Amino acid sequence: MTDCLFCKIINGKIPSDKVYEDKFTYAFRDINPVASTHILVIPKIHVNGLNDLKIENIDIMSKLTLSAQEIINTEGVKENGYRFVINSGMDGGQTVSHLHLHIIGGRKLKWPPG
Ligand code: 5GP
Ligand code: ZN
Repeated sequence: MTDCLFCKIINGKIPSDKVYEDKFTYAFRDINPVASTHILVIPKIHVNGLNDLKIENIDIMSKLTLSAQEIINTEGVKENGYRFVINSGMDGGQTVSHLHLHIIGGRKLKWPPG
C-alpha cells in the first residue's frame, strides 16, 4: 500500500534502524521504545492486522515468529525473557494499520498491561 507508513519503511522511502531482514519480513527499532529492546517485526506484504489473517495467509505469523526468534538471540534477551505483542484495533492500541509484532525486552515487564 503506497500510503502505508510501514510499507514506506520496507521500501526505504522512510528511514529506519534495521535489525533484521529476510525474504518475507523486515525488522527495525521502534521510534519510541518502551524498553532497551523494542523492535517491530513486519511482513513485507501489506496486511492491516490480526483481523485480516486467514488460512490462506496464516504463514505470515510463522514467518514473523521465526524472524523474532532470530532477533531475541542477537538482542541477548532470550534467556532473561521478553514479550511478543500484537496490538489490534482501537481498544488494543493499534496505531499503524500494517501488521506488526513488537519484541519488548531488557527489563522486567509488568502484567497485566495498562
Ligand atoms: P502500535 O501502537 O500500532 O501497536 O505500534 C506502532 C508502533 O510504531 C509504535 O510503538 C510507534 O512508536 C512505532 N512507530 C510509529 N511510527 C514510526 C516510525 O516512523 N518509525 C519507527 N521506527 N517506529 C514508528
Ligand atoms: Zn503496509
